[in-house]
Amino acid sequence: MTTKQSTIRFFNTLTRQKETFTPISQGEVRMYTCGPTVYDYAHIGNFRAFLFEDLLKRWLKFRGFKVTHVMNLTDVDDKTIKGSQTQHIPLKRYTDFYAKAFFEDAATLNIEPADYYPRATEHVQEMVTLIQTLIQKGYAYKGEDNSIYYAINKFPNYGKLSKIQIQQLKTGARVKTDEYAKEEAQDFALWKAWTPEDGEVYWETELGKGRPGWHIECSAMSMRYLGETFDIHCGGVDNIFPHHENEIAQSEAATGKRFVNYWLHNEHLLVEGKRMAKRYGNYYTLRDLLAKGCAPKAIRYLLLSTHYRQQFNFTFEGLEAAKSAVERLANLMRRLRDVNGESIGEKLTQLISQVEKCFSEAMDDDLNVNVAFASLFDFVRDVNNLIDANKLSKAEAEQVYSLLAGFDKVLGVIGEVEAEVLALEASLLISARDEARKAKDWKTADELRQKLKAMGIIVEDTAQVVRWRREKP
Ligand code: AMP
Ligand code: ZN
Repeated sequence: MTTKQSTIRFFNTLTRQKETFTPISQGEVRMYTCGPTVYDYAHIGNFRAFLFEDLLKRWLKFRGFKVTHVMNLTDVDDKTIKGSQTQHIPLKRYTDFYAKAFFEDAATLNIEPADYYPRATEHVQEMVTLIQTLIQKGYAYKGEDNSIYYAINKFPNYGKLSKIQIQQLKTGARVKTDEYAKEEAQDFALWKAWTPEDGEVYWETELGKGRPGWHIECSAMSMRYLGETFDIHCGGVDNIFPHHENEIAQSEAATGKRFVNYWLHNEHLLVEGKRMAKRYGNYYTLRDLLAKGCAPKAIRYLLLSTHYRQQFNFTFEGLEAAKSAVERLANLMRRLRDVNGESIGEKLTQLISQVEKCFSEAMDDDLNVNVAFASLFDFVRDVNNLIDANKLSKAEAEQVYSLLAGFDKVLGVIGEVEAEVLALEASLLISARDEARKAKDWKTADELRQKLKAMGIIVEDTAQVVRWRREKP
């Protein structure tokens, strides 16, 4: 596929419009994605965010960009401190445990690793320096509680991402917690002076004894790894306010430069119409689903196959449908290995250029996976029909195989199609059935087919060979 970088368009939350994507440095993309708060296992709603970001990165790479991806780990904030105290475990040991679990889960979901995973606790000095700059420039001040706050009325563009209007009355009022609602837009804590509730968690710095606020963490770490202005910043829509609004206020006030060119936010995964979230208790972790026997590829497909800016409900029926879709792709990959029919020639070339065009145009259009998958499954149906009619040569099958493997570099839902080993019993039944067919003993052949079906194995007879596949789950 040719590189047509300029045709990519993303919906930028900053402008609420689709914009043509032009990176700062030609052929290179620098992107930052807000990573997990490592205070518990991530739930599959969180993984919807991480999978959207994975798809975005894979598509940019597929289109020929060199991508530098930074994902932070929030390993000190209100939630991690509370969690470690409740469990009576030192903060580092507590967050290390969940960070490890996060990496394991991400690998299970076939998420490509980021280039850097900075941890907040390892970048406190950068945060302190940034806060000092904000104090010097008059954007930050010390409150009576000795914490340092950001004065939102000093930054005229405050609200430009979330589009909130700051009421004069609210300015000067202060909020110290990391999370709060739009209606509570206030001066927020950059540095939280130590209080007994923080226990052992503090740093002795030029700003006094305390710890950073959550928002300054991402400003400091993103700029440390990607520079003062970079291309893409992602997160779920819940991050728009206050987290990303505050990141913009902090970074742009400190540098005087634009912080990020494209802000991309994924919508939420819901359960019965309500956001999946720890606080609502309506969540599944990846591990919960694996324990129920759900396949990682099906989970990946389910979370990826709805456009990232659409909400959708998690259901087990949806997961079943995802499993069949993934299986359909894997079955075709297996079939392609045995193909040795007549050549279809020009018709295949047409089908291939059509699917390439549809898939690419859809993905270029703000990662429109719905259309991309639809074109892919049309192609799968057409190729299956060709194989059924024995109209695909070995070379053509190889061509289709590598095309699908190419798409899977972006989608990551097929992976290595494992060489399936038949249980001995099944392979004996297949041979016995073949013998029965040769002897034109149709009754026995049919009985054996039924027995195999009961074992989840479908046999298909073609002119040359008897082929088998696992029944669609
Ligand atoms: P957290 O660990 O809470 O900082 O969240 C990690 C990422 O998951 C952030 O980008 C959140 O915006 C995102 N997120 C949280 N809940 C959901 C959800 N239900 N659906 C999709 N993304 C979510
Ligand atoms: Zn962040």
